[in-house]
Amino acid sequence: MLNQTEIDFFKVALQERKETIKKNLLINSNERDGMRENELKDEADHASMSLDSAVDNAISIQQSKELAEIELALDKIKDKTYGTCDLCGSEINIERLKVKNFARYCINCREVVEKE
Ligand SMILES: [Zn+2]
Repeated sequence: MLNQTEIDFFKVALQERKETIKKNLLINSNERDGMRENELKDEADHASMSLDSAVDNAISIQQSKELAEIELALDKIKDKTYGTCDLCGSEINIERLKVKNFARYCINCREVVEKE
């Protein structure tokens, strides 16, 4: 099992990541609002701007998903189930958690989940 120091480490990392994503999402939506005004002024740049906002949009969606995963991980810390697999209940390798702080499945179950 993870000791308290390790759990605290992941908790801080998750909270910091959460704040970063929240800020990013806020900046993206502000930029998009500003972009809409510009599109009206300059038709020539319209195509490239649409592409940019599509990319921004994809990043926002990806980050929103990550944010949801982080919330789940923080809930697991509260429930004291953090670091255990949602599917089989076995311990998730700490090295795996270091790479992906919000990992919910052990390596074996992850393979099963991804095949579905
Ligand atoms: Zn598992």
